[in-house]
Amino acid sequence: MDATLQGVGVSHGVAIGEARHMGTAVLEPPAGQVAPEDAEREQERARRAVDAVAADLVARGQLAGGEAQGVLEAQAMMAQDPELQADVERRITAGSTAERGVYDAFAAYRELLANAGEYLAGRVADLDDVRNRIVARLLGVPMPGVPDSDEPYVLIARDLAPADTALLDPSLVLGFVTEEGGPTSHSAILARALGVPAVVALPGACAALPEGTVVAVDGATGHVTVDPDDEQRAALERAAAERRAALAASTGPGVTSDGHKVPLLANIGGPSDLPAALEAGAEGVGLFRTEFLFLDDSAKAPSEDKQVAAYREVLEAFPEGRVVVRVLDAGADKPLDFLTPADEPNPALGVRGLRTLLDHPEVLATQLAALARAAEGLPVYLEVMAPMVADRQDARAFADACRAAGLRAKYGAMVEIPSAALRARSVLQEVEFLSLGTNDLAQYTFAADRQVGAVSRLQDPWQPALLDLVALSADAAKAEGKSCGVCGEAAADPLLACVLTGLGVTSLSMGASSIPYVRAALAAHSLADCERAAAAARAADSAEDARTAAQAVLAAK
Ligand code: PEP
Ligand code: MG
Repeated sequence: MDATLQGVGVSHGVAIGEARHMGTAVLEPPAGQVAPEDAEREQERARRAVDAVAADLVARGQLAGGEAQGVLEAQAMMAQDPELQADVERRITAGSTAERGVYDAFAAYRELLANAGEYLAGRVADLDDVRNRIVARLLGVPMPGVPDSDEPYVLIARDLAPADTALLDPSLVLGFVTEEGGPTSHSAILARALGVPAVVALPGACAALPEGTVVAVDGATGHVTVDPDDEQRAALERAAAERRAALAASTGPGVTSDGHKVPLLANIGGPSDLPAALEAGAEGVGLFRTEFLFLDDSAKAPSEDKQVAAYREVLEAFPEGRVVVRVLDAGADKPLDFLTPADEPNPALGVRGLRTLLDHPEVLATQLAALARAAEGLPVYLEVMAPMVADRQDARAFADACRAAGLRAKYGAMVEIPSAALRARSVLQEVEFLSLGTNDLAQYTFAADRQVGAVSRLQDPWQPALLDLVALSADAAKAEGKSCGVCGEAAADPLLACVLTGLGVTSLSMGASSIPYVRAALAAHSLADCERAAAAARAADSAEDARTAAQAVLAAK
């Protein structure tokens, strides 16, 4: 029997191998009773398990580095949340065993999160993962997670917790398929950072791909073929070999076949992502997500000196290149205890990004001062941008802060809110460049939470409405003689990268592992081809039709 399932391809490459399922069983400990005189011992057991799990998550983070580290450290903090710990202790005092106390306390907290709006509900998977780890340790059973196997396999999961994605061994895990998760979810971003082929948002994947079945995962097209026959395997392997050959042949700066330059830049979370960016031939950094520096300590911002050291390491890696640093983007999917209001009904629409910084000008001033010091004496071409700029007033406030800090850099605005795209010319009166954050721009254009797999159709950056907003922004920048890059995940899709170029985007920034694919795609087409593909995509009425139309134009030339 063979069948091909369609998910959302989020990390390029082809993987063929046996399916292995993620150990996701929820361990429900029996509701035992503890005598009052044993309560203290049980509490000590619970504390030790919590600390051990938190230490393990931190250690995994250090091993993984990059963006994964921040995510895992946030999970470690979740495990040691003082209120949660106090609830565990209360339950043990009332007679629960340590494992049952942890289980019930997390269940109560889970319910709070699940009912606290879509954004917090998106963190439930992380919370469940932490609970399962603590309960498994207390019960003395193996940790849930990546299967133990000496043979390479394709990992199938309902969803992947950041702790597991970060530790996937690319030499054993050939690729992965998940039921949940959208194209801009943390799992997808981490998969690309690892360079593992991945397909997400494939409902029913666990049932359709039983343990031991041979599956073929195409992370470019989103196809997952069950029991591929010899002909299908050969076709997939041929396509993958062709892509590899095209990659090997492509080096150097980003440029179309007729010489139109489109700098290819890397998205990084910190200095540990630099080696991969340099190896992929990135021409600079197009998005330095500085919030990962802030995750170490939930109570305060990192010191100016600590920030200077991290920024300088990144700036020194591209001595003649361009480095675009995004100031802290806290809130919504990246909350920070000391900055993010705890009681917002809908944090994605609340005080996040630049709004947070304008409420805490001292945090912004320290960050800008650290950047100014880090760039001192270096020939690097520094650019600084603000996340979540809504209008000209926001852009002016950010530009004023940059001027007040004496920053010798270009300052720009991220276009992540439709209002900024619609009024891009007015925003550009205050700043020198635009950078399109297509992940959030899609989220806000389609009212579709980027953490929720069920709405991934609307998160698809091929949506013609999103392409219209890209075109508006690029046209405005051109009219003002300024630049307009893309640093959202849309830039990592080779075909879409050609369309974005055709829409007038001036640089593309992406996870390092996507750079060779995008470079090869650009090199195969002229600017006029890209413009025709862009027009065809915008004339469509759905993401799927836009992709097909662009593909037809570029394949036909
Ligand atoms: C975006 O929203 O597209 C973006 C680049 O920012 P982040 O993914 O960090 O929110
Ligand atoms: Mg964003």
